[in-house]
Amino acid sequence: MEKLEKCPYSKKCGGCTYQGVAYEKQLKEKQELVEKLIGGFCKVHPIIGMKEPYNYRNKVHAAFGITRRGEIISGVYREGTHDIVPVDMCQIEDKKADEIIQDIKGMLRSFKIKTYDEDTGYGLLRHVMVRRGFKSGEIMVVLVLGSPIMPSKNNFVKALRKKHPEITTVIVNVNDKKTSMVLGDKESVIYGKGYISDELCGCKFKISSKSFYQVNPVQTEVLYNKAIEFAELKAKDRVLDAYCGIGTIGIIASKKAGQVIGVELNKAAVRDAITNAKINGINNIRFFAEDAGQFMLKTSAKMLEDKDAGIDVVFMDPPRAGSDENFMSSVVKLAPKKVVYVSCNPETLARDLKYFKKHGYEAMKAVPVDMFPHTAHVECVVALRRVK
Ligand code: SAH
Repeated sequence: MEKLEKCPYSKKCGGCTYQGVAYEKQLKEKQELVEKLIGGFCKVHPIIGMKEPYNYRNKVHAAFGITRRGEIISGVYREGTHDIVPVDMCQIEDKKADEIIQDIKGMLRSFKIKTYDEDTGYGLLRHVMVRRGFKSGEIMVVLVLGSPIMPSKNNFVKALRKKHPEITTVIVNVNDKKTSMVLGDKESVIYGKGYISDELCGCKFKISSKSFYQVNPVQTEVLYNKAIEFAELKAKDRVLDAYCGIGTIGIIASKKAGQVIGVELNKAAVRDAITNAKINGINNIRFFAEDAGQFMLKTSAKMLEDKDAGIDVVFMDPPRAGSDENFMSSVVKLAPKKVVYVSCNPETLARDLKYFKKHGYEAMKAVPVDMFPHTAHVECVVALRRVK
C-alpha cells in the first residue's frame, strides 16, 4: 500500500481521527473495539479492510465562504462551528469530485457568483455536493444556493462541463434556512436527468441527490455480499429489508428469495427504490415509505392473523442511532428464522443485540467491514437466528 504524506488539514478538519496511524493499526483498533462491544454475543471474524484505503468517498461535500481578506474558500466546518476550514484536496475523497469543487471555486468570480453569508443571508452559493457513480462514472453536481435565482446558469454549466465532461447532471438546490442541514427542500435540475446511476453486486441503481447511498462503493459490495451470505436465503423466503434506502440490499436479495418488502422513511429514497426494482426487472419486491417501527407495528399485527403472510428473514440497516423497540418487538413477534443486522455503530448494535438476545435471538457471527478508513467509524454485519 502506498504511504501518503500526512494530510495538511487534519488538525483543523478533524474528520480523520486515525490520521497518521498506519492502516494495519487502524484495523486492529477497530477490531478490538468491535470485540469489546460485540464479542460477548458471538464470535467476531477478522475485520475486512481495503487494499487501497484512500480516495474512497464517492460523495463529497464542501461549504463555501470568504475570508476576511475576501478570498473565496471551500472546505469543511470546524467541528461544532460554522467556521470553514479550507480544504482543497482530501485523502479519502474521490479525486475527481475534489477537482470539480476546486474548479467551481475558480469560476465563481468570473460568473459574479458570491458565496452565501449565513449571518446576513447575503450572497448565493452555500455548498457544493458531488456524487460519482463508481462503476458508471456518472457525476452529479448539486449547487446549494441561498436563493432560487442563479444568474447565467446555462453558461455556468457549459463552462463547468467543458472542464469536466464526465458531469452528467447538475442540480440547483435551494436552502434559505438557518440550518446545519446541507440540502434544502426545493430543487431544480439545470442539466441532465437529475440523478446518477451506479452498479453494486450486479444490480443497477438510480441515486437522487437526497437519497442515502453508501459512500464507499468498494466496501459496500463486500458488506452486501456478507449480509447476503449470512442470510442463507432460500428460494421461497419472505424477506424484509428495513431501513432500505434506495432498495439496494432488498433488490440484490430478491434474486435469491420469494418475496421482499422494503421499508424506508425518506420518500425520495423510496421513489428511487421503486424505480430501481423496475430497472433491474424485479417484480417480487414492494416498498413502503414509513418509519420502520410504525410500519412493523401495523404490518406484524396483520401478518400474524394471516397464516400465508409472514417474514422468514429480516435485513436491518438502521442509522447510527440504531433500531427501536417498536421495530424490534414486532420482529420478534413475527419470529423470522434469521435476522441480519447491518450496523454503522457498534454501540447501538450492542444495545439492540441485547434486546434480541432477551427475546429469543442468538447472534451467531459478526464481521466488521472497514467502510470508512482513517475515520473512527466501523461497520458490522451480524447474523442472528431464532432459538426459541
Ligand atoms: N440499507 C440502505 C440504507 C442504510 S442507511 C443502504 O445500504 O444503502 C439507513 C437508512 O435508514 C437511511 O436511508 C435513512 O433514511 C433510513 N431511516 C432512518 N430512520 C428511519 C426510520 N425511523 N424508519 C425507516 N427508515 C429510516
